[in-house]
Amino acid sequence: MFDAILIANRGEIACRIARTARRMGLRVIGVYSDADADALHVALCDEAHRLGPAPPRASYLNIPAILAAARASGAQAVHPGYGFLSENATFAAEVAAAGLAFIGPPAAAIRAMGSKAEAKAIMSAAGVPVVPGYHGAEQDDATLAAHASAIGCPVLIKPSAGGGGKGMRVVERPEGLAEALAGARREAKASFGDDRVLLEKYLLRPRHIEVQVFADAHGRCVHLFERDCSVQRRHQKVIEEAPAPGMTAERRSRMGAAAVEAARAIGYVGAGTIEFIVPGNAGDAFYFMEMNTRLQVEHPVTEMITGLDLVEWQLRVAAGEPLPLKQHEIALCGHAIEARIYAEDPGRDFLPSIGRLAHLRMPAVTPDVRFDTGVRAGDAITRHYDPMIGKLIVRGEDRDAARHRLAEALAGCQVVGVATNVAFLQRLVAHEAFASGAVDTGLVGAHREALLRGPSAPSERALAVAALAELVSLREAAVLHASASSDPWSPWQAIDTWWLNTDDHAISLTFSAGDAAFAVRLRAGPGAQASVTIGERTNAAEVRRAGDELRIRLGDATFPATVVARVDERYVFCDGTMTRLRLVDPLAHPEDEAPRGGHLTAPMSGTVVGVLVRPGQRVERGAPLMILEAMKMEHTIAAPAAGKVSAVNYRAGEQVAEGADLIDIDADHAKD
Ligand code: ADP
Repeated sequence: MFDAILIANRGEIACRIARTARRMGLRVIGVYSDADADALHVALCDEAHRLGPAPPRASYLNIPAILAAARASGAQAVHPGYGFLSENATFAAEVAAAGLAFIGPPAAAIRAMGSKAEAKAIMSAAGVPVVPGYHGAEQDDATLAAHASAIGCPVLIKPSAGGGGKGMRVVERPEGLAEALAGARREAKASFGDDRVLLEKYLLRPRHIEVQVFADAHGRCVHLFERDCSVQRRHQKVIEEAPAPGMTAERRSRMGAAAVEAARAIGYVGAGTIEFIVPGNAGDAFYFMEMNTRLQVEHPVTEMITGLDLVEWQLRVAAGEPLPLKQHEIALCGHAIEARIYAEDPGRDFLPSIGRLAHLRMPAVTPDVRFDTGVRAGDAITRHYDPMIGKLIVRGEDRDAARHRLAEALAGCQVVGVATNVAFLQRLVAHEAFASGAVDTGLVGAHREALLRGPSAPSERALAVAALAELVSLREAAVLHASASSDPWSPWQAIDTWWLNTDDHAISLTFSAGDAAFAVRLRAGPGAQASVTIGERTNAAEVRRAGDELRIRLGDATFPATVVARVDERYVFCDGTMTRLRLVDPLAHPEDEAPRGGHLTAPMSGTVVGVLVRPGQRVERGAPLMILEAMKMEHTIAAPAAGKVSAVNYRAGEQVAEGADLIDIDADHAKD
């Protein structure tokens, strides 16, 4: 076994690898960009080396800097994690050429699977079924159009070098091919530096089922069962589970055997995943989609049901040891589900949300609840890297038990500072479509309305909690004030002096949520007591702080709650939901908050990659106006209303900051 390894990655995966390596007694060397100098993964390593500025090209994709760090630190092996350089054959080769072990497959295997097109060719030759489509070298429009019409709509365009769902386009009608092709190529070029694409029959509501394989350098290869990753948004996984719902032992062994066959076909060594797509209607068919020649984000669900540590296996295999277990010794026990918690706004098409994590609390970790993260409260989600906050992984004796445990764990997730998908995940996990186990890749789209609806009106309880939290803050402020005063015993310093300004020692607070305002009348009693009136109902209450939580009694109910205050915003966490309120200052002048009429602003910092309109042009509501690339994804800026374009303020290629005024429109209705 090695003495020291370097982790060429960041975030949760770097932390996760560091933990296993340290448990195995290895010295762990980390690397970081300027944005990550104080990151959790750096703190978990024995030593860490700076790579360069924040942009990945200068840091986590900077091969010479990573090799220099490996040399300087005396590492004997390099773990690439996932993303970044993990599937870069040149990197694997250079690591090996530097006399270090690459904790992953041989460069040739990465190269063979690096292109989805080539991978499909190899797999068909090896007798592994592939999705019908075109994966040839001819890339001109005419050839692709001819193949698209032979395949028949809907057709899916995929970048050959693709990953992370980037650049994929579904073509519903032949007329849409040219535009979709241009978009796919542009996004592929920007993300992978390669604009080749392949075409596939777009299967309706299929399932994504993948098989974890492991091979050693001694010719052994096993599979560690399957994971179902059908629940996706933007063609990207958001919930993964193992085993796949409804999987039979017979089918598992056929898919497992096909996966092992696929790995053998390319002389694979290490951890890999064979992704299959399973048509919704078909009884038995499954098709090879691609192979990921690395550890997957969702590997923890496999760890939960097998009790194995896949990173430990990776290290052992890379050190030349045989696989720790034979196929028949690997057992599947229980059911595990992973939910990816992202800093993103489901209400705005899952657009990443950038900011500092002002408050972060996660459920307690137990043998059945695991939280893998690379951030702590106070850390930032930046535009440079993946906006994942962490992965919540739970296990239960069966799917229902796991699902209930996940719902409970999600109820304990508290994040303030960025938008998150937590409420979306909660609805998803509770939704009948997910609960029934009849999952497919269209699930989120089919239940959009139920899953993506905006926040509901604040509950009376949330309003009462928000008001009681104000009471606690005022009392604490009064105590502080009194102890700082020269005359702490002055009657004016008594905690309840604050109430003297109000008639009958009560005060009305107004909270707003969206367009609605809610009045809460609060009356302070002795000690921790108070009473809260909302509408016609008055409840006796008691509130005490316990750490950063509040212990509340409201009427007959006793419960904990957390309220995070940021300027005038109040984030109320109770009953497993977050309610976002604004405390209305009665003295503030009502500002003219009319929407900024015809100005379309950048939802986030990025690069303009396409301008689709000219000043003076008339546009209909919903017409695409500009394409912005941010966080390696394209976002279309569409017209909010019919009207005339009055100004286009940026050209293709220009950088824009969040909030920048991109395009102005004179909306037709604005005239009245
Ligand atoms: P990437 O490598 O970019 O993640 P994949 O090839 O793994 O792309 O596909 C990502 C997801 O897109 C799949 O999990 C599936 O939901 C969907 N998908 C891929 N190919 C097809 C297809 N032929 N028909 C329908 N959906 C597909």
